Amino acid sequence: MINEKMIKLGSSRSVIRELFEYGKILKEKIGEDKVFDFTLGNPSVPCPDEVNKYASKVILEDSSVHAYTSAQGDLAVRKAIVKYNKDKYGYSLNENLIYMTCGAAAAIKIAFSSIISSDTDEILAVAPFFPEYRVFAETSGAKFNYVKCDEENFLVDFDAFEKAITNNTRGVIINSPNNPSGSVYDEKTIIKISEILDKKQKEYGEPIYLIADEPYREILFDGELCPFIPKYYKNTIICYSYSKALSLPGERIGYLAVSPEADNKENLYFAVMGAGRALGYVCAPSLFQKVLIEHADKTSEIAPYKDNRDILINALEKLNFTCVNPKGAFYLFVKSPIEDAVEFSNIAKTYGLLLVPSDSFGVKGYVRIATCVSKETAVNSIPYFTRLAKDLKMI
Ligand code: PLP
Repeated sequence: MINEKMIKLGSSRSVIRELFEYGKILKEKIGEDKVFDFTLGNPSVPCPDEVNKYASKVILEDSSVHAYTSAQGDLAVRKAIVKYNKDKYGYSLNENLIYMTCGAAAAIKIAFSSIISSDTDEILAVAPFFPEYRVFAETSGAKFNYVKCDEENFLVDFDAFEKAITNNTRGVIINSPNNPSGSVYDEKTIIKISEILDKKQKEYGEPIYLIADEPYREILFDGELCPFIPKYYKNTIICYSYSKALSLPGERIGYLAVSPEADNKENLYFAVMGAGRALGYVCAPSLFQKVLIEHADKTSEIAPYKDNRDILINALEKLNFTCVNPKGAFYLFVKSPIEDAVEFSNIAKTYGLLLVPSDSFGVKGYVRIATCVSKETAVNSIPYFTRLAKDLKMI
């Protein structure tokens, strides 16, 4: 018999993918220039030339480029990751606690699988959250729960957060810079989260792992900084990816790092390797492991994302839309002018504007605009937003 749960998962596309596919059809019908696809988080800035050139060189010159690596990834790339984080944040990860993955998605799935052992175990997320967390948690056998955020600044509502942690909570996942709100958890927020988790893990006598999903860690604006979470909370598992800041989403390369100070770190790391093995992992793509040995410290240009943010925020605010001002990542989270964001997204669609309703991110009443588009798309969309705002009597 075919697995019903998997049929359901495979046959129901995410809202984001649904809109993206709709956009492709619409472009064929009415022309590319009249459709403004703000759906996917595919970086619009290319990967740096030197990285592409180095990848070509590796393909042509390294005879082991297509070979399997160790399951946890080549030692040299894990050492390069340790060096990068040490130089940037002054904190030493341990290469023997790093596991190379197919992007942050696989790292998160592996992190969840390694800490869930009973069907009463829970993963807690803070809304708004990446919708796939639910899929990764539930297919790891966990209950998925989430807690609302403070909608003033899209950081954590600490009272709600503390109340949501139970003696079944095995892991808490946070994502900063945040998709979809662009908020960046500052040091005060990380300290407070750490204090609450410390208190709760003492109370329940079980570690609560903090899973830091950080694919946007380098995409920051206006001098913003991201605190390096293992410095603040010992039971941290970092899930990092080169998909966004190095513009390599299709290459599927990232890593999971268990904090060197984590409780049960040896067994946790064995569980990480076991969870990878159970996924049929074998190893992360070998070409990009080799590329990162030399380029783990590189990022694509970040300025174009800031420019698009500014172009769109300025235009939308003039039209009386309310936007959260993103400090990082490449999304705008805009308050829906009508209560139902799904209905608003459907209306916007008829203007060629593809905006993702916020419901699947665990928050109602907003739409997400991915600003990782060309500057031309951002600028040319403004007259369409203007017509939409006029028709909704916002101006
Ligand atoms: N986490 C967040 C918050 C994301 O936005 C994404 C991708 O959009 C991922 C994880 C997965 O990224 P990756 O391509 O590295 O698997």
